[in-house]
Amino acid sequence: LSKSSSPSIVVDAHEDIAFAHVLGRDFLKDITQLRASTPKSDQGTPTVCLPELEKGNVRVVFATLWVAPCHDEHAPSPICYETPDEAKAQALDELIYYRKLEREGRIRIIKNKAQLKEHLEDGSDKRKVGFVILMEGADPIRFPKEAKEWFNAGVRIVGPAWSRTRYSGGTRAPGPLTKEGRELMGELESSGFILDTSHFAEESFYDALDLFHGPVIASHANCRVFTPTDRQLSDDMIRAVTSRDGVIGAVFYNKFLDPNWDDKKKIKSDVTFATVVKHMKHVSDLAGDKLHTAIGSDLDGGFGVESTPMELDTVADIQKLAPALRDAGFSEQDVQNALGRNWIRVLERALPES
Ligand SMILES: [Zn+2]
Repeated sequence: LSKSSSPSIVVDAHEDIAFAHVLGRDFLKDITQLRASTPKSDQGTPTVCLPELEKGNVRVVFATLWVAPCHDEHAPSPICYETPDEAKAQALDELIYYRKLEREGRIRIIKNKAQLKEHLEDGSDKRKVGFVILMEGADPIRFPKEAKEWFNAGVRIVGPAWSRTRYSGGTRAPGPLTKEGRELMGELESSGFILDTSHFAEESFYDALDLFHGPVIASHANCRVFTPTDRQLSDDMIRAVTSRDGVIGAVFYNKFLDPNWDDKKKIKSDVTFATVVKHMKHVSDLAGDKLHTAIGSDLDGGFGVESTPMELDTVADIQKLAPALRDAGFSEQDVQNALGRNWIRVLERALPES
């Protein structure tokens, strides 16, 4: 970046910051200290911390409440839930952690249009990273009518699925919405939530889009045409989201970017930002414009720097996606939209007034 041009505004629609905290990672440390204090694990080398978000001009993050179901072998956590009450308790702890960061003056939780506007207009040196709270996997909502309570507590986006939840089929867990899941759609809509379709099993995905009439997104999902697993979106699913003016966030996990990438080796390989852009371009081609693709890096979602594209060392390097987007024919405006403005447009439309 030259000194004359200010860095682009980045919005990252998926970071499991509270869960990283549960794993013992200190979000406030600088990246060198964080890495030095993180024991080697399957989670890999960390890439996300507050100083790096600030350095990369990441102005808004969709920060998740994610809790691990004990029954799922893929849940990478020593802490997990057996019951809805436990899921709720653990998710509340994560929400309270975000509140603590806010009370300490480190971040700002964004819940409405007025706060978003104020946040984006803040030009002071002390401006903060804004968090929009996203619940990933709806088991902490103990029964559909409890959705409203989570909205009142500040959650603005709900993705009902992860693997299977009580509400829906999910990744590696095919099937439709359950009876409670169908009820939940009405409660999410009347409460004013944005629906995150990431992780839905295909049948549940279409059930949800039929029953939920509010704003829909896919905070973090890539294209199944390149990476053929049920975790990614088919072309029809991409069209279903973008035709409702929904935005889809590209995930920076090599395993989701390139099926030939060897995740056993856990070393940097030839996956690059050009591969990320290939997915983003495909979403844009299906949508017919470049207003519906954006970033949902998932950078602390169970993988480390070893499993990300070559150009990336930390979350600050999302800025380096810009040249790869330009190479693929994105105009300067398209680049700004893909890095952040497309998500801001969703929030400006979908958040409550005040
Ligand atoms: Zn996820």
